[in-house]
This record gives sequence, structure tokens and C-alpha cells, in this order.
Amino acid sequence: MNDNNNNNKNNKNKKPGSQMSLTWLYLIIAVVLGWMFLSGDSSLLSGGSSRNATYSEFKNYVQQGYASRIVVNKKEGALQMYVEPSHIRDVFKEQKVEKGTRPYVVVQVPSADKLEDFISEQQALENFKGEIEYRQGEDDFMHFFWSFGPLILIVFFWIFLMRRMSGGSDGGGPMGIFSVGKSRAKLFEKDDKNKVTFADVAGQEGAKLEVQEIVEFLKNPQRYTELGGKIPKGALLVGPPGTGKTLLAKAVAGEADVPFFSMSGSDFVEMFVGVGASRVRDLFRQAKEKAPCIIFIDEIDAVGRARSRSMQVGGNDERESTLNQLLTEMDGFGTNSGVIIMAATNRADILDKALLRAGRFDRQIHVELPDVNERKEIFQVHLKPIKTNSSLDIDFLARQTPGFSGADIANVCNEAALIAARNGKKAVDKDDFLAAVDRIIGGLEKKTKVMTAEEKRTIALHEAGHATISWLLQYANPLVKVTIVPRGRALGAAWYLPEERQITTREQMLDEMCATLGGRAAEELFCGHISSGAMNDLERVTKQAYSMITYMGMSDKLPNLCYYDNQEYGFQRPYSEATAQLIDEETKAMIAEQYARAKDILSKNAEGHAALAQLLVEREVIFAEDVERIFGPRPWTSRTEELLTENTPEPSESEK
Ligand code: ADP
Ligand code: ZN
Repeated sequence: MNDNNNNNKNNKNKKPGSQMSLTWLYLIIAVVLGWMFLSGDSSLLSGGSSRNATYSEFKNYVQQGYASRIVVNKKEGALQMYVEPSHIRDVFKEQKVEKGTRPYVVVQVPSADKLEDFISEQQALENFKGEIEYRQGEDDFMHFFWSFGPLILIVFFWIFLMRRMSGGSDGGGPMGIFSVGKSRAKLFEKDDKNKVTFADVAGQEGAKLEVQEIVEFLKNPQRYTELGGKIPKGALLVGPPGTGKTLLAKAVAGEADVPFFSMSGSDFVEMFVGVGASRVRDLFRQAKEKAPCIIFIDEIDAVGRARSRSMQVGGNDERESTLNQLLTEMDGFGTNSGVIIMAATNRADILDKALLRAGRFDRQIHVELPDVNERKEIFQVHLKPIKTNSSLDIDFLARQTPGFSGADIANVCNEAALIAARNGKKAVDKDDFLAAVDRIIGGLEKKTKVMTAEEKRTIALHEAGHATISWLLQYANPLVKVTIVPRGRALGAAWYLPEERQITTREQMLDEMCATLGGRAAEELFCGHISSGAMNDLERVTKQAYSMITYMGMSDKLPNLCYYDNQEYGFQRPYSEATAQLIDEETKAMIAEQYARAKDILSKNAEGHAALAQLLVEREVIFAEDVERIFGPRPWTSRTEELLTENTPEPSESEK
């Protein structure tokens, strides 16, 4: 084994423990191999077919001219006489000798001197014309090597595998190869010099406000516990990649001045059963020692995806047991132990329900892509370390980068600096930034995150359609904010579980449906073409119509019937083929009616809609006040205000 190599690896490790155990392992292997070598009997070591012969037999064979080659092993006082192929039958009389192998006889030599005399005599008589070879016993070593070479290779391969399993350089841990079950969380101590604070997180005012409370909890928990309140255990940061979720969690730790454990959900998942669960245990053990502290789990969907309901065995057992362990740990530690878990995902809708229950990740904090003003702030943060030309217009940059995430903007700044350096400039100027933006867009286009001007107009028309209708219909969700910044997938896919929603009337649902269809209706009326942007809306509308008809008994032709079943018998339909057809027809009719209604409202208010769309193109985000300025106050203000203060989710949905 290569010492150098070994040292290098351990330097990366910086954990002396693992070197110890590996040295031991190598030592054990060496001892075992050595023992096998020393005790190795010759039958084990010699290949080819052979038999023993006495010295006089040997003399006889040589005199007859049977010998083709003689190998004398001086150390053992023995020789091997290889047999001339034509005389094999004479030497190995009754034995069957396979062709192709070189058979020989093994002879114990009484005296080396006599042997030499005998052989030179026979050579003179031309009875023996082959070669003679004297060996000191190293032949055995070669034999040994050939016999055990493959075994040695296997052992090395095994060691290699074990090292890989334990996670290579950062697996470490005091147990070396046995540390598979250790958590791989990165720990950021609180006295770290480059600590992150809220000042480093630009924009995201809403999210910052929500996590501010967590900072307070961590700073002086007794203020809350004295009143009998319970400190939350977990918060879930939901939003597209690169929007600063990790940054926000780090900032919480930085503001509260507590240690920060960071781990990715995919780190838990290994191919070995039980590893994930034991890593979770280990992570929480470490965290409790450092409490108060924050555990941050990135990409929690890697472990937290909904457990399958089917009875299928195997498959995702490992992920499920990891998830179960995570749930157990979250329940297990006391509310006031000061460990707060923050997790990030961009798909809250695929997470297991159990994770989102009270006492676990009961807070969801949405982190969305920044709008034009937020982008400006992010630019300001990331331009700080960069030497820019004084004429650089940050507003212009912000306007040039619709759909960019915080990470993309950080990337633009860095890329611009690199481009300027490549061109030998003294300061980074506008052209460098534009080139950087082009580069990033080129890289991002595949992900269809950024918009062209045409797309932006289409999306504005679409969103203005939603906004107009929801403003003008009595029961539609009142508007809080409309944005054309692309957002992650819609949340709350639990439309079809009626018992989980509070009571909603038929009118409300129909108005809601009309407003949701408003996007597509506006596209058809004012764009001249319809787009894929409405897919999400259509999915929601279809589900809603279907559930109104089959679950809530709200259609005229199928009144008061509920065909809801909890999918236990998913392969059976509790109604006839004729009813199925009726359901389809009713669904289509309901949606067609609401779509016609949406188009009607929009054509009657085309001017207002156009003004709204224009405002959206300019500002990317508009609020209820802006809509009110265009359409005048809603006649139903009381309800609007009431709901506005309750912080209802905005009605606009995500479109890509
Ligand atoms: P996520 O965890 O949501 O994928 P990160 O927190 O890892 O995103 O963000 C990656 C990088 O993008 C950050 O390190 C930071 O440089 C930059 N960034 C993202 N959002 C912001 C923001 N709101 N303000 C400043 N920088 C940001
Ligand atoms: Zn829409």
C-alpha cells in the first residue's frame, strides 16, 4: 500500500482516527497473508501435474533420456524433473496425464554435490540435453504470488469499497470505515467570521418578517415559554432554487448568534438499509449538544416525499424508515430544547402530510423569485465587492433580468467581473453586465425560466385577466397582489378533499372558477393565440368542476350525490358507465359556461384590462390599490377588507 497516497487522503480528512483503523486493517491483512505464505504446503503452491519419485528412479529416468529440464531448489534440497513429452507415458504409467500441462516429478536430493556430478556425467553421455536451473527458493514466492494475486486484488477492492462507503474524504469520524451511519452535517459555529445576517438577504421582506420570529425564539426563549407558549420546532422554506432559502436559514442562525447545522436531504439516502435513520439520529444528537441551534435540511423532498399508500413491499423502505426516524426525532425532543429545524424544498405539495402537521414543519415560509425592485436590492448586495464603472445604472440591470433568481444575479455579477478582467478593463461596465446576462440567459434557456419581451406581454395579459375578473366578481377571492414574475408550482393540490376545506358555497366556487379561467380567456381575446401558461389554471378548474359534480352534488343533473371514495378501492368506480358519461358532460358544460362568462366580462372591460396589463409589464407586480384605481372600488368592500387583513393567499396562479 502506498504510504504517500494514504497520507494525502488523511490530510484531507484531518481526522487521525480513521488512519488508525485503516493501519490496523492493513496490518491484519498482512499477517493473514504472511501466515498463509509461511504455512503454505507445496501441494498448494505447485501447479501442473506432478508426482514424487525416489532419487534412484530419477537417476534411471535421466539415464533413459526422459528428462527435458531440471530445476534444482537448493534451499529445499529437492528438484523438479520435467518430462520429455514423448516419454510422459513411461514416467506416469498408470496415471492419465492431460496434454498441454508440463508434468514433472519431484525428487528429494540426498546431496547437492553428487547431483551435480551425476548431471554433468549424463550431459557428457548426451542422455540429458535439456537445461538445468538452480534456484534459491524465490520460485515459491512467485508461485505464491500467482496463487494469491487475485485474492489480494479482491481484498484491495474491498478496502476501496469500504472507503467509498464511508464517504471518502469527509466521511471521517472517529470510526473510519465504520462511520457510515454518522451524520454528514456541516457545522457553522456561531463565532464564524463570515457570518450571514439579514442585511445579506436582499428583498424577501415577507419571508424575513416570518423568520424574524424564529430569531426571537432563539434569542430569548423564556419570554415565550413563561407565558406557556410553545416554541415552534420547524419551518419549511418553500420556493424555487436559488432564491436564497439556504441564505435565509443561515441569516437566522447569524442573527440569533447560534450554531448552524447544514445538510442536504439526499445525504441521508444511501444504498444501505438503516443508514439514513442512524444519520438522522446522529444529527439530532449532535444538535442537542449544541442547543440552541438551527438544523437546516436542504432538499427535504429527497426524504420527505409522501410515503406510498400501496401495500408494495421493498422499494422505498429505506427512504421511509429515514422519514419515520426524522418524524420520531422531531416529536422526541422537547419543545423548549432550543433546536429549530429549517428545511427547504421547491415542492411542498409532494411532501408527506405527516411532515407538515402541527409540531413539525407547521410553518411554511414562501420564498419567491424577486420582482424588479427586489432584483435591484440583490444587485446592490452583490455589486458591493465589485469595482464598477460609476455610470452603471442598477435600475437598468434589474429591468434587464426578469425571472432571474438571487443566485442567477450573483452569477451575473461574478460573470461580468470575469468578462471585464478578460478584456483588461479597470472597472466593470454596462457592456460587461449585458454580456454576462446574455451568457446566463443562454445557460438558463433550457430551464425556461427567463422571459422574452413577447412572453412578458402574454403573461401580463393573462394575469390581468385573472385580476380583472376576480375584482369584478362578488365571490371571487379578493386580490392582494398580482405578479408576472414566474413562480413555482401552485400549492394546495388538496382541492378534491372537500372535508379539509371550510365551507364554500356554490357561487363562490363558480366565481373562483370564472376568475381562474380569466387568464386563458384574456389570452384568447387579446393575444390572438392561446398559450401553455394556462395549463395550471385548467388543471385546477377541471379538478374543481369534477369535484363539485361528483363529490359535492352541485350539478343540476346529478344533485346531492357524492361519489367520493378514499381510493382504497381505486380500481372500482362506484357508479355506472352512463353516470360516468353524464359526469363528463356536466363537467364540460360547467367549465364552458364559466369560460363564456369570463370572456363576456373581459370584453365589457377591455379598456381596464389593457391598462392593468400595461401596468404589469412596467412594474411586474401590482397591488389591490392599483386595480382599484383602474376599476374603482369594489361594491363589496367589507368582505374584501376583512379578508385582506386576514392575509389570504393571492388569487393569481403560477404560470411558466
Ligand atoms: P436556495 O437555497 O434557495 O437554492 P441559496 O440560498 O443557496 O438558494 O442561494 C444561492 C446564492 O444566491 C446565495 O449564496 C446568494 O449569493 C444568492 N442569493 C439568493 N437570493 C439572494 C437574496 N435574496 N439576496 C442576496 N443574495 C441572494
Ligand atoms: Zn393563470
